[in-house]
Amino acid sequence: MATEKSNARQASLDRASELKKRAESYLKNRANIPSGLELASHLEKKREKYLDFFQGTQDQWEDWHWQLRNRITDTETLNSLIPLTPEQREDIEKVGKEYRWAVSPYYLSLIDENDPQDPILLQSIPSVDEILDTVGEADPMGEEFTNPAPCITRRYPDRLIINVTNLCAMYCRHCQRRRNIGEVDQHQTKANIEAALDYIRANPEIRDVLITGGDALLLSDQMIDWILGELHKIEHVEIKRIGTRTPVTLPMRITDELCAIFEKYPPLYINTQFNHPMEVTEEAKKAADRLIKAGVMLGNQAVLLKGINDDPDVMKRLNHELLKIRIRPYYIFHAKNVQGTSHFIPSIEDGLKIMENLRGYTSGMAIPTYIINAPGGKGKTPILPEYLVSLNEDEAVLRTWEGNIIHYPNKK
Ligand code: SF4
Repeated sequence: MATEKSNARQASLDRASELKKRAESYLKNRANIPSGLELASHLEKKREKYLDFFQGTQDQWEDWHWQLRNRITDTETLNSLIPLTPEQREDIEKVGKEYRWAVSPYYLSLIDENDPQDPILLQSIPSVDEILDTVGEADPMGEEFTNPAPCITRRYPDRLIINVTNLCAMYCRHCQRRRNIGEVDQHQTKANIEAALDYIRANPEIRDVLITGGDALLLSDQMIDWILGELHKIEHVEIKRIGTRTPVTLPMRITDELCAIFEKYPPLYINTQFNHPMEVTEEAKKAADRLIKAGVMLGNQAVLLKGINDDPDVMKRLNHELLKIRIRPYYIFHAKNVQGTSHFIPSIEDGLKIMENLRGYTSGMAIPTYIINAPGGKGKTPILPEYLVSLNEDEAVLRTWEGNIIHYPNKK
């Protein structure tokens, strides 16, 4: 009995050391992946530098209206904060004529100005690749054909989207809706939103409504209060969701007043879009804390972007950082073939490699679903590495996360 016990202990120790080895490469690489939480004191200094430049106060920095008023939209201001070469300035101006750009001082302060491939810079500052793109489509999702009422997109049996605005805090360079965003700043009219609400009232199978845009949280508190209140009154609407990137690009938008509105209309889910661990900052954490206190459930929908997060360790670190601030990684979207964004599209193999490097290597909580949005609005299609090798009446042949092949009985 004693020998059996000591053999079991030895086997456990051997297995533990094998597992420890499996963690080594990530731990080594993680040291080179910056995280906003880890660099908090460095970002504080950057904030002081930016406030000096804008002659603002700490209170103003925390005011989302001030952040929007002071968005950087010209190369001269940008050059004062992030030194640019004459060629870069020229490129940005050239692209700006075709695709608009604007970055909040907060988001810009996350950029490492010494790194031309910085992931925050790539997401926010125009690149000449945008106008060189000849293969992207304006509307690969065919959203025009899934629009049964004003500002509604309906692709599924029991849920739909209301697009309430074209405004965003920042015009992301990889935006998958760029045909609508960034050209015209326009909230939907109250009449259009009323028509969308009427459509929902008249269709009792709709139990889940996503309010998005643009960025839904760019609406005024009063408008958000009205839309949520109206949805809350519809008995068959079981849950409400909001799509917003403000926790990433403008976390000061999540004010106590806004959270007091959210608190009135449970159950409310907010999905946001963090794409890199550098975006997970103290400010983002504060925003998440406030939302959670108001009873809002938080999820993240990252977009898989070449040069930003198409690396298994970057994606793993992003998901770990998100869990630290209580945001659950929900989806990784494969970037769509949208005009002006083709340079961001990775291969599907890259996506599968990321999923392969998450499963087993980290907690299931840190593993979102990898999704390809089927063209023409045909819906979200999950993509998984192959774990089921074969299945017949008697057994399933499975491949484990470590690549072991096992035979598992199939009980009929
Ligand atoms: S916040 Fe969303 S909709 Fe707005 S520009 Fe960025 S990706 Fe596009």
